[in-house]
Order: sequence, then C-alpha cells, then structure tokens
Amino acid sequence: GLRTGQEYLDAIKVRNKAEIYVLGKEVKDVTTNPFLKPSVLAFKATFDAPWEEDTKDLARAWSPFINEEVNRFNHIHRSREDLAAKVKLLRKISHKVGACFQRCVGFDALNTLYITTELMAQHGKTEPKEKFVEYLKTVQKKDLALAGAMTDAKGVRTLKPSQQPNKDAYVRITEVTKDGIYVSGAKANITGVAASEEIVVLPTRAMGPEDQDYAVAFAVPTDTEGIKIVVGRQLNDARRLEGGDIDSIPYFYNHEGLVIFDNVFIPMERVFLMRDWEYTNQLVEIFAAYHRQGYGGCKAGLGDVIIGASYNLAKQMGVEKASHIQDKITEEIFLTETMYSAGIAASLNGIEVCPGCFWVNPMHANVTKHLVTRFPSQISQLAIDIAGGIVGTAPSEWDLKNPKLKEYIAKYLQGVEGYTAEDRIRMTRLIENVALGVAFQIESVHGAGSPAAQRIMFSRLYDLSYSEEVAKRLAGMKSDVHFKNSAEPWRLSETEKLASKTQKTKD
Ligand code: SF4
Ligand code: FE
Repeated sequence: GLRTGQEYLDAIKVRNKAEIYVLGKEVKDVTTNPFLKPSVLAFKATFDAPWEEDTKDLARAWSPFINEEVNRFNHIHRSREDLAAKVKLLRKISHKVGACFQRCVGFDALNTLYITTELMAQHGKTEPKEKFVEYLKTVQKKDLALAGAMTDAKGVRTLKPSQQPNKDAYVRITEVTKDGIYVSGAKANITGVAASEEIVVLPTRAMGPEDQDYAVAFAVPTDTEGIKIVVGRQLNDARRLEGGDIDSIPYFYNHEGLVIFDNVFIPMERVFLMRDWEYTNQLVEIFAAYHRQGYGGCKAGLGDVIIGASYNLAKQMGVEKASHIQDKITEEIFLTETMYSAGIAASLNGIEVCPGCFWVNPMHANVTKHLVTRFPSQISQLAIDIAGGIVGTAPSEWDLKNPKLKEYIAKYLQGVEGYTAEDRIRMTRLIENVALGVAFQIESVHGAGSPAAQRIMFSRLYDLSYSEEVAKRLAGMKSDVHFKNSAEPWRLSETEKLASKTQKTKD
C-alpha cells in the first residue's frame, strides 16, 4: 500500500511507452529530462511524505478496502478529520516543494467517483460502484501515481458538447463494443500528467441527454496507445536547460499538459460512467468542491514560503524592524491564514453524503477557492514590495560564477553582514519562481474552476429569500420567516439532494 519516493521514480522511469512532448520533442525519460525533472521531484514528495517524521501521520491512512495502510493521496475520506488532514498535509508538502505537487487532482477524482458511483448504486445502478471499488483497490495496493483530467478543450464556449462544430471538443465515446469503449477528444491544462502512471478522466460539465456520449468517466494508464501529452510552457522555463543551481529551478516545480485521446480503447471494467448523463451535474459539483477545499492547504503553504522569503530578504537588507515592513508581513500572514481557515472550515463542516463517506462543505470549499483567486496575487505583491526591484533585475548566477565579476557582485549585492550576495540572489529567485509562478498566480485563479464558477455556486447555495424574510421580520414588515434549525441560510447542493442520507442540521 505504500511506496517510497525512490520506488515511484523507478516506476516512472521505465514507463517509457508514454508519448510525451516537451518543446516539440518527444521525451523518453521524464525523470532525467531537465524540463520535467523538477515536476517529477515535486510529485515524488507525495511518496516521500509517509516516510518522513513530520508528515508520516498526516500522509498515512487506513483503507478498509484493502485492509492496509495507504498513502493519503489514494485514500477515500472516512471522516471530517480525514478531510482536515488533507488540507494540513497539502500545506506541509508545499513547504517542502514550493510548488504544486500535482497528486491531489487524482486524489479528488477518486473520492468524486466513489461518491458518484455510490449515489448511482443507491438509485439502483450498482455496477459502476463495483467496478470502481475494484479499481480503487488496485490503485491503493500499488500506490499508483494518478493524474486527474477534467477540463476539456471546450471549443465554442456557448455551445453544448453535442452542438460543437468540432465533435471532439469534449472527450466522448466514439464506439462501444462488448469489451470496452473507444474515446476521442482532449483534456487541457492537466496537472502533473507527464509524471503520472494513470489518468482518471471525468466529465467537465453537466450534460443533458443529447450529450450522453460525452458523459464518460474512466481510468487509463498514461502510456496507453493513442494518448499524446503536450507539456505546456511556463515563465522562465528555458532556464532549466541551462543547468545551473540557482536560476534554473534545480529544485521543484509543476507542469500542466494537453492530453490528446486519439481513438483510445478503454476496457469495460475501467469505465465508471458510460452515457450516465444524469449523474454529471453532481459529479462536477463534488469534484469542484473537493479540489477547491484543497487549495486552502497548498496555497497557504506557498504563502508560508513567500512570507519566509520576504522576512529573510528584509533581514538581509536590515529593514525587518521597520514598521511598514512588519505591517506588510503581518498582512501576508493574515491573507495566508484566511485561505487556510476556509479550507479547514470546509473540512470540519464536511458532509456525510453516503454512509461513512465524507464530502467537503460545498459553501466553505467554494469560499476557500474564491479567496485563493484573490489573495495569492496580493501576497506576491507585498513580497515584491518588501524584496525590492531586484526581483526584476538580479544578475544571473552565471555572473556570480564569472571570475571577472564575482568579487564585484559579492561586494555590491551584499546587504547586512552575515548574508552573502549569493544568499540574496537565491532568496530573490525563490520569490520570483514561487510568487510569480504558475502554481501561485495562474493556477490560483483558474485551477479547480475560474472565479465565476465559485460565484455561481454562492448564489445557488445561498438562500437569499430566507435572509430577506429574516430582515423583513426585523424591520417590522410582514414576513413569513420559518426559522431553520441550522445557523446557515443555505440550500441543499445537488449532491445532497441526490444522497439519501443528508446532513441532519439542514432542512
Ligand atoms: Fe494539489 Fe494544490 Fe497542486 Fe491542486 S494546486 S494539485 S491542490 S498542490
Ligand atoms: Fe490545481
């Protein structure tokens, strides 16, 4: 049930059938490719976590499915504490990698399929759950590295999948045989996919009956014939090819890729949704909330990295006691802890949607992600403010290493004694790479759904008419308020509506 980081690396190294492209060239070994190596190392941190003293309790969980200890990233949440442990683990791993470690999407996809197939079973369709639990057991036993793939290419945004001029704008079933299905289409912006062993594919939006060929969920090994992965570019990425140990991101990073399915065969036992359009609405809601909750952990962890870097750079320049600097660092702390608080609230107010299976609180999870669409850019702005213009102008490590320049750089980049010019450049690069990187800036806005998607959820979940009746009553107007048993004026989510067992405190 538990692999080590090294075992993961060994497995991913020989997974050489996968068709992966970086900068237009096919990559055979992702563990040594300079472009992908930082990403593989960040993914690996999730396999190291169960073996490291400070993370082992958070990273291990007991699976009743295989009666063994498993890596939390392949665990099905059994309690609200499990949900909170996820957020805490994510914050801690961010401290070790300073980037997105990419394994949570697969984690959330597993939990989403567990609840979805359970709800299908409750409504009389038992086969998907049986197939899914078998798959889950394999994943847990082998401790597989999963990528989750949800976002489709999408084509014309105003048109439904079946109305698209490009029939493959959303991943779809092209043929059904007695042994399995054939799928075509593409999933976009897929986190960590080149570092994964399997891809769990979910539909990206609610589908109607006319879109049933697009209502498909399955799991597929990453190196299956017909799958092509095109890894995306990132800011400063060519530095990785320079081979340095300061500028080149020699440590950790993440990647996203376009995953193309060109008539890929999926055996029937790995197909969990097949034209089951009636369940896509809930599925999307469940997944989105799970991933939005997680951001309260990983992005808070990146906030900590930036806070630490801001503070250290202030010390290097001798300004750490200046009141405006202290105030900016305090603000960074406030913003970071706010994101985390929301993630913890989403966990501890989680909902038991099926016996023994726990979903996050959808309102708090959406709030968490919405904070994350705003706060990281504010934290980064404060860090740049504290660090100074050097974030945009620092000499390269090659200048520092040039014998003709070395002495001058050492002399003119040093601030307070005890810190060197190299310290200054290293910390500056960390701010540049983390504060302005994909994981903290771009993924924070669009990952797990763009800002508008959360706002739609707020208006769906919040019962405005209830609050209005409360206000009318207090204002002395005629009101027919019927006080709820719960403090929150929330409506039931689609998932809770479908679940036979819903939280008692709601009505
Ligand atoms: Fe995990 Fe955060 Fe990366 Fe999503 S963005 S995969 S939650 S580390
Ligand atoms: Fe993400």
